[in-house]
Amino acid sequence: MKYIFGPVKSRRFGLSLGIDLSPEEKSCNFDCLYCELKKAKPVSKIKNEPDVEIIIEQIKEYIKNFGYPDVITVTANGEPTLYSDLEKLINNLNEIKGKSKTLILSNGSTINDKKKQEILKKFDMVKISLDAADQKTFKKVNRILDGISVEDIIQGLMQFRKIFSGELIIEILLVRNVNDSLKNIKNLSKVIKEIKPDRIDIGTIDRPPAYNVYPLTDEELIQISTLFEGCNVNVVTREKDSIYENISLSEDEIIQTFKRRPYTYEDIKSVFDKKTLDRIEDLIKNGKLKLRKLKKTVFISSA
Ligand code: SF4
Repeated sequence: MKYIFGPVKSRRFGLSLGIDLSPEEKSCNFDCLYCELKKAKPVSKIKNEPDVEIIIEQIKEYIKNFGYPDVITVTANGEPTLYSDLEKLINNLNEIKGKSKTLILSNGSTINDKKKQEILKKFDMVKISLDAADQKTFKKVNRILDGISVEDIIQGLMQFRKIFSGELIIEILLVRNVNDSLKNIKNLSKVIKEIKPDRIDIGTIDRPPAYNVYPLTDEELIQISTLFEGCNVNVVTREKDSIYENISLSEDEIIQTFKRRPYTYEDIKSVFDKKTLDRIEDLIKNGKLKLRKLKKTVFISSA
């Protein structure tokens, strides 16, 4: 089983090689309305956790073949901080990462845990989601496992900011008529100003969501961003990127990569080489990948 996927091109982070700590099935303590993965009951553990040694071997092999990516991103088909060997993983990654930076994408559910804070401190960049500032909206948008409190997450973020000298990014994802009220946004702005992250990413649904929910427009996002005055705000809109790399993937690697998230034609053309693009077309024809539409954008995803 391959635990690494991509690379994925990101405007903010560059070429990012992903590590999936839950490749077999979604293992998350949230079940967000906007999740790019299929809806699933929230759980508190990752099922069939991979071995750190195997992940590190796969990263080394990638670096040997393609060189250092800009970023090595620790993520999961779910929540990566639920992985029980996270400390060993980041210690090992820090030994082999060379000029790559390490990044973890978390839903923030464990940030109030002092032991987790000590582990997350070892990453170069930590990106945490915060979609609501009150428990009612939090439950509605993130459909959490019982017992998780948004107040704990906010307190945890404030403590973590004090001990973390790397780049802390808070991501807000807004869903129409769910967490886009002026009240929620003003509350978020207030707490985030206290947390003092290095950057705030404000975005909306960009890929086919797990539930029947709708995005905001780019204009609305830009308008909302003005409520975070004095902060370093990045409004995440879908922009065209220039060609970045010419990565080649086998059929199996393509299937593993598309399992994690759907891609647009624009995405794949900017990252993969011609042979990989031909393989993707063949996989679509053979029904191993499928096309899905969100508004006017066509996404390619696993079947
Ligand atoms: S969006 Fe992230 S945090 Fe939310 S359910 Fe999906 S994997 Fe979990």
